[in-house]
Amino acid sequence: MAKYVFVTGGVVSGLGKGITASSIALLLKSRGYKVFMQKFDPYINVDPGTMNPIQHGEVFVTYDGCETDLDLGHYERYIDEELNYTSNITSGKIYKSVIDKERHGDYLGATVQMVPHITNEIKNKVYEASNTSGADIVITEIGGTVGDIESQSFIEALRQIQYEKGSSNTFFVHCTLIPFIYGSNELKTKPTQNSVRDLRNMGIRPDALVCRTPFSTGEHIKEKLSLFCSVPVENVIDSVDVKNIYEIPIKYYEQKIDEIILKQFGLPIKEAKLDYWKKLIKTVDNLKEEIEIALVGKYVELHDAYLSVAEALKHAGYKHNVKININWIDSEELEKQDKKLEEVFKNTQGILVPGGFGSRGIEGKIKAITYARENNIPFLGICLGMQLAVIEFARNVCGIREASSTEFSPTCKDPIIDLMSDQKSVVNMGGTLRLGNYECTLQENTLAYNDYKAKKILERHRHRYEFNNKYRPILEDKGMVFSGINEKANLVEIIELPNLKHFIACQFHPEFKSRPTRPHPLFDSFIKASKENK
Ligand code: GLN
Repeated sequence: MAKYVFVTGGVVSGLGKGITASSIALLLKSRGYKVFMQKFDPYINVDPGTMNPIQHGEVFVTYDGCETDLDLGHYERYIDEELNYTSNITSGKIYKSVIDKERHGDYLGATVQMVPHITNEIKNKVYEASNTSGADIVITEIGGTVGDIESQSFIEALRQIQYEKGSSNTFFVHCTLIPFIYGSNELKTKPTQNSVRDLRNMGIRPDALVCRTPFSTGEHIKEKLSLFCSVPVENVIDSVDVKNIYEIPIKYYEQKIDEIILKQFGLPIKEAKLDYWKKLIKTVDNLKEEIEIALVGKYVELHDAYLSVAEALKHAGYKHNVKININWIDSEELEKQDKKLEEVFKNTQGILVPGGFGSRGIEGKIKAITYARENNIPFLGICLGMQLAVIEFARNVCGIREASSTEFSPTCKDPIIDLMSDQKSVVNMGGTLRLGNYECTLQENTLAYNDYKAKKILERHRHRYEFNNKYRPILEDKGMVFSGINEKANLVEIIELPNLKHFIACQFHPEFKSRPTRPHPLFDSFIKASKENK
């Protein structure tokens, strides 16, 4: 029978609950257990796909085409397992499913209620994740903070699971904050006590507390928390601020959180294989050189909007022993400002244009691409970044002055980027992009082939528009190489300019498959080229 770890949060949001859940999962995996992860998000959107990244941060995409919370990116990077449609469940998804069932007549005769109908649906999502993954241990994080109106049905469902499965099969980790008050110079436990009381009011006694704190709490604080919260003193875990988030699993390992969980589950405590992770931390702490990568985007005020891209850059940096400093460039400002581009990119070794939607800031991104192309600066374009690289080339090299995308210029004369034919009849915006894994065939003797060293690759997608094949011969004639193609639908997946040192762009999102110990091939070669460019 599967075991369940539930991770809740209290006091404030943004404590790093996702990293805590991922770290616990990594430790359990390192002890030989098969783990799977899942996140509940209490908002009403069916998924975050329709939200503005400034509200929500990046939308992470699973291989099976689900648009999910960015925490799933952390999960995949830590546990190195591909997650799926069972891994991110929102209130919207739960309500929609219950209401659809009601209309279908599945509950004929019944009054449909929060308990048991909504809570049963939530419990079923936990069991579905467990059954379909076949994991020994499923780790479920509950978004938001305990006490929020929205998360109550989730907490109630977890209470029922605890009752049904018993405490030898369930383990509750509650993440809270221990603030330090300047003046009296003390760490304070009261917010944690209050938050645990809220949780207990809903019928759940946490098995462990993970306390975010600026420095180690010490025995006195731990004993106080233990007494007030009914948690054994050794189950009070410090989560001290770190400069590198990949250190956290090791910090928890030193405090034996995994052993505590396995003991409660009655599972054997096998040896933890963590050498690879310790080596990673050592690498991160000892990076020799630094390079600057310019990331030109529209949502740069919130770095979380490009979380996986930033992580993927860092991962490649670990391999090449360089610390990556990202120069976050607002594409709208770049569009408006008169400042010379040589000034803007003065210290830049590589330029990256990531994905995006809508017309804002487009010309600024195109300016950056022109600069990369004309000055032979290593360039990586992702999704919208590829579409714009093609538009830039069409306009400035092929002389197709009005080349554009129908996304931001619906009546343009030369729609180099256009709606995919199967998108023309789409009316609903949610969940209807080209999503998830699609195959791409690579042409030999190209940069792409050299990076992947494979003929066929699978990459994750999230877009509605595509390259318009009508223009292919003209661009090819001027030297653009279409090195990756989805043969089934004849869609352009990768383009490159072989006359330059390193100029490549892809229609998919390589950042989602990058791992700290295994950088993605496209990021790997981009950082290698950027380092050489220094
Ligand atoms: N907006 C573009 C499209 O829909 C690109 C999407 C993206 O960059 N993720 O095709």
